[in-house]
Amino acid sequence: MEPKDTTTNEAFKGFTNEACPFLPCHPGVEREFNCLFCYCPLSAYQCPGPYKTFADRNGLTRKDCSDCTLPHNGYRRSWNFIQRWLERPVPWDGQPQDPRRLKREVSESGD
Ligand code: SF4
Repeated sequence: MEPKDTTTNEAFKGFTNEACPFLPCHPGVEREFNCLFCYCPLSAYQCPGPYKTFADRNGLTRKDCSDCTLPHNGYRRSWNFIQRWLERPVPWDGQPQDPRRLKREVSESGD
């Protein structure tokens, strides 16, 4: 049995929860809506998504990922995106997104 992070089995790569009352929770998804990464594995890591930051009730800085479609836009596409960024995860430094990183991800993804 192959590890799931290197699988070629398309069935592992995504699904859409049509019964979810929040679907579609992120506007702008053009391909199959992937619910597999509803809790984004990159939340605690540096990522190329268009997140904003806010302070929670304990004063901790958090990501607001409302505008991000990267973990949701197409089963295979979002799977590959997550695997690529988990290869060398770097803990998030709590800083706002760097616009240069955003630009790089968009150009690499072909959008
Ligand atoms: S901005 Fe996007 S890629 Fe980054 S943690 Fe949020 S949902 Fe994940």
